Amino acid sequence: MEDKLNTLKSKLKQVHDINAASAVLGWDQQVNMPPGGAAARAEQLATLNKLAHEIFADDAIGLLLEDLAGAGFDYDSDEASLIRVARRDYDLARKLPPELVVDMSRTFSLGQQIWTKARADKDFAQFENVLTKIIDLNIQKAEAYGYEDCIYDALLNEYEPDMKTAEVNRVFGELRATLAPLVQAIASAGEPVDDSCLKQDFDEQAQWDFGMQVLKDIGFDLERGRQDKSVHPFTTSFSMNDVRITTRIYKDMFNTALFGTLHEGGHALYEQNVSSTLEGTLLAGGASLGVHESQSRLWENVLGRSRPFWDFYYARLQDHFPAQLSSVSVDTFYRAINRVERSFIRVEADEVTYNLHIFLRFELEQALVEQRLKVRDLPAAWNAKMEELLGLTPPDNALGVLQDIHWSIGVIGYFPTYSLGTVLSLQFYQQLLDDVPDLPEQFARGEFGALLDWFKEKIHRHGRKYTANELVERVTGATRIEAEPYLAYIRQKFSEIYRF
Ligand code: ZN
Repeated sequence: MEDKLNTLKSKLKQVHDINAASAVLGWDQQVNMPPGGAAARAEQLATLNKLAHEIFADDAIGLLLEDLAGAGFDYDSDEASLIRVARRDYDLARKLPPELVVDMSRTFSLGQQIWTKARADKDFAQFENVLTKIIDLNIQKAEAYGYEDCIYDALLNEYEPDMKTAEVNRVFGELRATLAPLVQAIASAGEPVDDSCLKQDFDEQAQWDFGMQVLKDIGFDLERGRQDKSVHPFTTSFSMNDVRITTRIYKDMFNTALFGTLHEGGHALYEQNVSSTLEGTLLAGGASLGVHESQSRLWENVLGRSRPFWDFYYARLQDHFPAQLSSVSVDTFYRAINRVERSFIRVEADEVTYNLHIFLRFELEQALVEQRLKVRDLPAAWNAKMEELLGLTPPDNALGVLQDIHWSIGVIGYFPTYSLGTVLSLQFYQQLLDDVPDLPEQFARGEFGALLDWFKEKIHRHGRKYTANELVERVTGATRIEAEPYLAYIRQKFSEIYRF
């Protein structure tokens, strides 16, 4: 049995190494690559993905997994978890024809390049053909995977294992029932918040330096990671000892760089703190995208947009920007970074309206893969939904349907995990506050170690061993994702800020 397990591990290690090499190419594509490199890069990635799929979906791995199924390892052991998660990944990989894997890889890489230009030109027509192909490939993939209730389940399952569209609808229904009236109440009854202090001339290098300091303070290990700049901030890792994040800096808007850094920093802390016993295996990484997002949203919002955090950092920030902020009080600044505003861009959205942007994408994605909506009609459908949910019509497609990278890289079924993660962040945080009640006082002293240690122990170290639902139960005792802790947090925080 020992021999078979070692053979399995060494085959999976090959796949892991090829995928890590693909990740380096993907990182480079977004951070450094000139546009002329797009065609060759798409071929390189297609070749690596084909190779990884060939090794992984091979009969030999299936036979090893069958032999090891009865090995009797304890459910929580690294061995049983590896076999269990490998089985899940393997069953999915086996369902995909190799030609489809290659076609998807090539198309999704090219799609990104086409979208980048279409977005810059605010011209959906440039993107329409490749997006039509991307939707079609996703439909083919979902059909290959198979599903019981609806086609979207097959896509969602890739990012949030075992999550069903119906379950997402339950959680989103609860969110919508509270958030829509709350946005109204803030607009009609709230004391207006002035955020002009954030829209001054903020030196780019000073923004970068402040962000790097915060990143170090929250526990990001610069010996095992680095930050760069890219058009669209993201996190990727080539190993738990080499975790990459990116940010973007706008001179005239303070929020973008720092909260982007905190967001990606939250993802990176998760990746850096998986147990070293899982390094190089397919268990290195996050449990699901929702659980991953629970970390990024927690560090970005629950910590980074909290009053105690700024009680510690505000004087330091003023030192970086004396001309801009010396006459602005911490109270004014705190209210400004939490200003609620119906706006066009998801990643810039405040905590209250953010989920409305996700509902829009979730509904449109389902309509596309169920073929109720044609790609040609997508911009109009986007604008109509935007009007329905946020009361706004984008003036151009760059501020509308072209704003996010996800669809261009073939990712359909991913967006709901942002809201699920947001909800999870508070479900976990509520438990954390029960365990460490003086946590906000620690933040106000600039101490973030207890926060990180708790998450390392409860979530990070396990890597992919458990599903999101298993983690929720282990960490909080609840048997499913619950929206209420998040809604209670939002109601309290924003009724204070808006004074109603
Ligand atoms: Zn994220």
